[in-house]
Parts: sequence; structure tokens; C-alpha cells
Amino acid sequence: MTQHAFQTEVQQLLHLMIHALYSNREIFLRELISNASDACDKLRFKALTETGLYAGDDRLQVNIVSDQEAGVLTISDTGVGLTEAEAIEHLGTIAKSGTKAFLQAMGTDAAKNSNLIGQFGVGFYSAFMVADRIVVESRAAGVSADAGVRWESAGDGNFSTEVITRAQRGTTITLHLKEDAKEFLDTWRLRELVKKYSDFVSYPVLLPKNLTEDEKKEGKTAEPEQVNAGQALWTRPKDQITASEYTEFYKTACKQWDEPATRLHLTVEGTLSFTALLFVPSEKPMDLFDREKRGLSLYVRRVFIMDDNKDLLPDYLRFVRGIVDSDDLPLNVSREILQDNATVQKIRKQLTKKILDHFASLASSNDEAEKATFTTIDEIFGSVLREALVNDFDNKDKVARLTRFRSTWTTATVEGDEKRPAKTGLEDYVRRMPEGQKAIYVVNAGSLEAAQGSPHLEGYRSKGYEVLFLTDPVDEWVAQHFTEFDKKPITSIAKGLADLATDDEKKSLDEQTKSYEGFLGFAKANLGEGIKDVRLSARLTDSPCCLVGDTHDLSPQMADLMKRMGQDVPKPQRILELNPGHPLVQKLQARHTAGTTDGLADHLATLRDQAVLVEGGRPTDPAAFAKRIQALMTLAV
Ligand code: ADP
Repeated sequence: MTQHAFQTEVQQLLHLMIHALYSNREIFLRELISNASDACDKLRFKALTETGLYAGDDRLQVNIVSDQEAGVLTISDTGVGLTEAEAIEHLGTIAKSGTKAFLQAMGTDAAKNSNLIGQFGVGFYSAFMVADRIVVESRAAGVSADAGVRWESAGDGNFSTEVITRAQRGTTITLHLKEDAKEFLDTWRLRELVKKYSDFVSYPVLLPKNLTEDEKKEGKTAEPEQVNAGQALWTRPKDQITASEYTEFYKTACKQWDEPATRLHLTVEGTLSFTALLFVPSEKPMDLFDREKRGLSLYVRRVFIMDDNKDLLPDYLRFVRGIVDSDDLPLNVSREILQDNATVQKIRKQLTKKILDHFASLASSNDEAEKATFTTIDEIFGSVLREALVNDFDNKDKVARLTRFRSTWTTATVEGDEKRPAKTGLEDYVRRMPEGQKAIYVVNAGSLEAAQGSPHLEGYRSKGYEVLFLTDPVDEWVAQHFTEFDKKPITSIAKGLADLATDDEKKSLDEQTKSYEGFLGFAKANLGEGIKDVRLSARLTDSPCCLVGDTHDLSPQMADLMKRMGQDVPKPQRILELNPGHPLVQKLQARHTAGTTDGLADHLATLRDQAVLVEGGRPTDPAAFAKRIQALMTLAV
């Protein structure tokens, strides 16, 4: 038996392992199963070129056995095994630069850093979190039985090795569990851990079958049975996976209860290698607007690393569910490391591109079912996707082409929903633009009905210009940043001066404004708070008035949205536009000119309040509004 000292870094690491309190020490099992699976991978690879390595037994598997009485847990594999020299090198030093860096980052304050360890996972040595003595017995594939090795350590500064005789190839790791780690002898607990962390390891992971009380009384011995699913679904050839297998995976692995609207199985090979199995739900998730929520699990070489990864997809694709399995990331990645890991950034870029391309192909498909799928995705997730117009400069254009809005043009109805017209995309909108139309026109409103009834539309309608309805709360925010498509400005019809009038019309509006000057001044002075200007309108044909804002003004809907998010916002200042072609406006102006201003201020206030109601708002003083209407009705009845 030979004594060896651990490399300094290993001693440091072991010190942390043994002396800190660990909240997540169960990950040792994941690490050991992963090593065992790697050993099987290595043997399989070597055997491709070295005949006879299997020596008649090509079973590759991982066997876990617990001995309650002895307090011992063993994890055995039939993989490539270790020679004595390899055991000394691999189980006495730290080769991975990542782990070294991790150690440096940790410093020596074990208690403070105890939680970090669990998150990193540090391979074989993590077993010292649960064991106070570890024995490794191994025999490399292809060597004789008497060239086995026993490695042993109590996790202090040293380990010993000796040559042993071992009947079969592969490695057995025996953990003498600490007093407070006996939970890991319980086969139910072990099963749960295998399912949780190693379900998709490519080799069978075996545990003794749980016996019934009767079977135990009969003295039956528990046969080993496979606990993990065995083969990762995403590693199988796509054409051999059925739709129902995909759906089953979506439901169990992604913990979903609906049917997926669509799925994407990606295999990327080259400088970057990863597989992704992605799903889009067909039902609206409860937590859709929780930006912290994510549905992607990360695997590294079939080994589960974490749920709810936030770095692999941008916020606006947070509704996508599934897994990503990377060949390039180290197993000991932490959430902190992932954030600015270059590989992760590259995967994220690729995933985003592929998902958006997939959506685009559904949207432009000739297949009715695929088109309908896109419609479903847009209905449920369109407003989330549109966040990209604000947040993702690189993909802004792609997403813009995927956005769908209802508009003054779309009259066809959605099947089963007679009141809601079908939606249109921006590309189609641009294609329909008549000559002379300079901008893409939009109107923000709290509901489809409010948008459709908006008096602002009148002038645009009469010119034959289509207006898009932006009716989702998020659109207020989106519209502020999404100001151009296909080199055409996107303009709100409720902001700024309407650019509808021809030169002649402009001239006549200017002249009318001159003759209305006194009346407009009177109106402005009397309407007071909330109305910063009163002017004649170029956008109205039928209605007497409407409210508009300056180009950069906060709209009332945006102000509402911000208030609901707890922000302090000033009351939006609006501009009241009057239609000089409307008889009511003409009569009011005539009364002002004649000097009979009795009740005139009340009439103007009523007009203003009606404009507020029409855009879906609420008059500042509803009681006063009702009183004025009642007075008018008394006169009329
Ligand atoms: P990692 O597996 O990330 O390289 P570990 O500390 O877990 O780091 O293991 C160190 C090395 O020990 C492995 O790279 C491998 O060479 C060897 N090893 C560990 N477990 C086994 C095993 N079950 N069979 C063969 N070799 C193993």
C-alpha cells in the first residue's frame, strides 16, 4: 500500500467540502453517476478501435446498492475503469481549470461559501460531502484481473493506493456515509434523486426493486431494476420519435398539462454542438408575465444541470418550454457562470434564430393547420413576442414581420368569434398602402371596440388609409420604441398633427383657424386643467371632436399602465381637436362670435368629456358630466 498526498487544490476543496454546511449535497449522486456514464462513454468509444476490450461483456450500466446495516452506499459501473497510475493522477489532482478558478473565487471562508459548492458541483470530490471514507476499486478495461486498484481516503490530506485482484472491469465507489447522511441509504430517496438528476443518462441506472412487506418477510432479495428513462429522447433520430412520445415528454419532463402548439427538435453540430427539444404551449400559462419564470432545462452531455434556465432564451421567448443539451459546457456550471458564458450566448443566439425562423415558416405556410398553429401562438404569446421590438435590436425586424394586428382593413372574422376580425401583418399592410400614404398608421386603445370607434380614424378612412389597432397594454410601450418598419415611419393617429390634408385643405384650415381664433381661446381658457390646447382638426370628418397628444406625450393608456405598475405619473395633458365641418361646432362658434356665451363653457366641457369616453377613458368629474347631460335632456324632452 502506498500513501500519497493530495494536490494542494484538492486539499483546499476537500476542506471546504467537509467543514461547510451544505444545502445541496444530494448532487454528489449526480456527479458520481455522471462520472460512471462518462466511463461507459469512454469504453464504448475505445472499443470502436480496440477489439476485445469488452471481453465478452458489452453491458454498460450503473448499479447503485445501499447497505443499511453497514451504512454503505456503492455506485458501480462497467465502464472503462482506472489503472493505479490513473487513479493516482485523476483522483488526487484537479485537472479542470474551471474548478481551480472556482476554488480561487471561493476563498477560504467555508461557511459563507457553503451554498456555492452545491451549485457548482465539483465532481468526484463532492462525495466527501456525504462520506467520511471513500474506497474506489477499479480495473481498467483490457488489463488482467490482477491489475486492479484500490484507492482509499478519509478526505484528509492523503489517500492510499494498492494493487488488487478484481474480477470484472469498471469501477466501484464505496461511500461510508456520515452519520447525518444516512438518508442516502433509503432506496426511495435514491430513486427520487436518479429520476431528478439522471433520468436521461444514456445508460441504465439500476437500483434494487423496492420489496413489499410480505416479500421482505419471505426473505426475498431485491432484484436490480432500471430506474432512469435510459435514453434521452432528444438523442434519438427524429424520424423514430412519434408525436405522442414528444407530447409525453412535453407533459412529463416540462411538467405541462396542455398539448404543445408546436415543437422544434434541433441538432446543431460543428464548432458549437447542442441539441434542443423545444415546445410552445397551446394554453396561456398563468405566469406568462412573470419575467423570472422560464421553462428551459439545461443538460450537459445528457446530465441534468438545472431547471428554469434564464440565460438560454431572451425574455420575450420565456413561454418556450423544453430542454437544451450542450456538449460544450462544463458539468460544473453555475447560474452565475452561465450568465456571461460565451458558449451560452452562442446557444442563445442560435435558439432565438431557430425559434423565430420556425414561427416565420408557420406564418407563411401554405398548410392550413400550420397557419392555424401560428394564429394560436400569436393569440396567446404575440404580446410577449412583441417585447423584442423594444429589447432585441438584432431580431427586431424578424419579430416585426411576425407581429399581427387587427386593423381597419381586416373584415374577415376569426372562426367561432364573429366579433373579432382576423389579423394582418405589417408586410401585408405595406403592400396595401395606396400611393401617397407616407406612414404606417396605428391607434392605441384599451380595447378593440374603443379602437374601432375611435373618431381619429375618420380622416384616414376617408383617404383610404389603413390603421392598425394596438389594443394590448404592452403595445403602448412597444409603440414608443417601434417607430419604423420597412423604412416607413410608424405614426400614431392620436398624436401630433394629422398629416392628411392636401395643400389646399391646409390653406383652408389655416383660414378657418383665423376666424375661430377667439372661440378656440375661449375654449382653452374655460376647459382648463388637463387640456393644454384647443385647435381645429384635420383628422375628423363625422365627429365633432377628439383628444390627441403631442408626438412624445404620455398617452392616457400608458399613464394608466404606469400607474398600475406603481409609478408616479403626472396627469397627461391633452389637446382637444374640433371639427369645423360639424354643425355643433359651427353653432357653438357662432354663439361665441355673437357674444352669447351663457352655458357655452358647459357645452365645451361636455364635448371634452364625450371625447374622453369615446377613447375608453373616464371623465375627471363623472357627476358633473351626468348633470350637464341631464340639463340638456330636460331641454330636449
Ligand atoms: P471530471 O469527471 O469532471 O473530470 P472528477 O473529479 O469527477 O472530474 O473526476 C476526475 C477524473 O477521475 C475523471 O475525469 C476520470 O478520469 C476519473 N474518474 C472518476 N470517476 C470515474 C469512474 N467511475 N470510472 C473511470 N474513471 C473515473
